[in-house]
Amino acid sequence: MPLVLVILGRQGSGKGTQAALLAERYGVVHVSTGDMLRAAVAAGTELGLRAKAVMDAGDLVGDDIMIGIVDERLADDDIEAHGVLLDGFPRTTAQADALAEILGGTGPDMAINLDVPIDEVTDRMLARGRDDDTEEAISRRLELYEAETAPLLAWFEERGRLTVIDGLGTEDEVFARLTDVISAI
Ligand code: AMP
Repeated sequence: MPLVLVILGRQGSGKGTQAALLAERYGVVHVSTGDMLRAAVAAGTELGLRAKAVMDAGDLVGDDIMIGIVDERLADDDIEAHGVLLDGFPRTTAQADALAEILGGTGPDMAINLDVPIDEVTDRMLARGRDDDTEEAISRRLELYEAETAPLLAWFEERGRLTVIDGLGTEDEVFARLTDVISAI
């Protein structure tokens, strides 16, 4: 299996932007499950129709659906050839367990948590004004993040795969911190 990296962080932490920059720098495929879902919503596919209400409410799409989508995507040739940076997946420990199984039991090579405090991400999300960024949806997503996604940090830590990066600062400063740790592996 090629290089598999995971980037974690609260919504609004800048992980999407940094993931795109990192994918370009290292030549790996950037897979954002949020982007995949938004594309499905825009295309009006059956998945999109099912996901839209869940996303608008700030809830998480079901594990089975998400695991199915990612399992299928990871089987594509471009990922086999170039490796992958997963952005937005896994979001729950059930998804992390499934990912480890898909990868043959070893799990991803490294998970990076881009750490930005709650107050700061709330301000950033309100400022970007995306359709699904109502105040209710934002606080719901952050609540869910603490409840469901934060245990993922423990999951990766227990396996010795977690690196925490300070996500405060300019885009360039954060990118430099990220490349420092990734280049080391
Ligand atoms: P994101 O762009 O990563 O913030 O994702 C936007 C929305 O898509 C989230 O609020 C969830 O509703 C849904 N979503 C994306 N990735 C996942 C995932 N791995 N598990 C469950 N829901 C997801």
